[in-house]
Amino acid sequence: MKILVTGGTGFIASWVIKYLLEDGHDVNTTVREINNKSKTEHLTNHAAGAKGVLTFFEADLLQEGSFEEAVKECDAVIHTASPFFISGIKDARKQLIEPAVKGTRNVMQAVEKEEKVKKVVVTSSVAAVYGDNSEIIHTAGNIFTEEHWNQTSSEKHQAYNYSKTAAEKEAWRFHENQKRWELAVINPGFVLGPSLTKRTDSTSINFIYSLLNGRFKQGIPNLYFGIVDVRDVAKAHVQAATKLDANGRHILVAESMSAMDITRTLQEQYDDQYAFPKKTLPKALLYLFGPFMGFSWSYVRKNIGIPIYFDNTKAQKQLGITFKNPRETIKEQAAQLIEDGLVQVK
Ligand code: NDP
Repeated sequence: MKILVTGGTGFIASWVIKYLLEDGHDVNTTVREINNKSKTEHLTNHAAGAKGVLTFFEADLLQEGSFEEAVKECDAVIHTASPFFISGIKDARKQLIEPAVKGTRNVMQAVEKEEKVKKVVVTSSVAAVYGDNSEIIHTAGNIFTEEHWNQTSSEKHQAYNYSKTAAEKEAWRFHENQKRWELAVINPGFVLGPSLTKRTDSTSINFIYSLLNGRFKQGIPNLYFGIVDVRDVAKAHVQAATKLDANGRHILVAESMSAMDITRTLQEQYDDQYAFPKKTLPKALLYLFGPFMGFSWSYVRKNIGIPIYFDNTKAQKQLGITFKNPRETIKEQAAQLIEDGLVQVK
């Protein structure tokens, strides 16, 4: 098959492209800066030894018509490009919501023009399934499933979650207006694991990097996430794109863990060689100092200390994913950052 992958430089997309090329598919990929070798070199290297052919195109989510050239002659499209950051947000509409929603619209408009496309895969998130952890109490069986939709996030509260929800809805809106292509959506939890690049600006890479580098050494908020390995997420995208009967939403979470569980996993491996968080920060302290750290009172009340759980049955059955143990995922990611010389012992 010939498959377009948007945002090829990303943490997840890089693995998707590697697997597609290894399986012999031809890949068109879009990047923002086609001449920035530091962002694309690893992809060129994978392509050199693979069966499939890789072609780069320049495209920006905010630019109308940007994806039309790249989608030509493609049988399937995997749309992963979207801004992913949860801190340092100054203008949520400009930085997150517009690129996510307009970008999805631009990609879907390009799909509408290419008759060959029969399958579209959109990288959404569990952020489009729920807004705040406290919503788990409204679920039957204390578990989030593909039936749930985030109905609580907004531009002002959990803007990233809102951007993912609005973008996924935009994809479904385009899908409902036609009969030519099927839509499969991948809804991963927090994606961790080894990276194909040495970049640390990706949120998933930066989190483990920060745990090793002492950013949270005074303490870490008692936050719970659904964790999944980046290679399982990439395989799910490949399956969803190449199996016509794989459609609808798919939650990709191996297991739920707290930030302290992740820290303990690293301590098992490295003892106290790195400046790991010493404790979880008490909720009362977060009410006091949270606003200075980017956590609103509402966020603290609805998220801190509340475990969440996910049903991953559909991804196992429809996409054939056997989830990796997240503790191994975390250890492998840390080992790679250390090996690459990106973190120092304390
Ligand atoms: P990265 O930050 O590693 O990659 C994001 C990609 O989006 C990059 O290729 C980036 O390009 C591209 N991008 C961002 N803004 C624009 C823009 N305006 N125009 C064109 N491209 C743009 O993120 P991940 O790989 O982690 O995330 C990929 C997808 O997966 C996103 O949709 C994200 O929301 C979703 N996701 C991620 C999770 C995670 O834990 N990592 C969890 C659930 C969902 P550039 O290199 O030029 O910046």
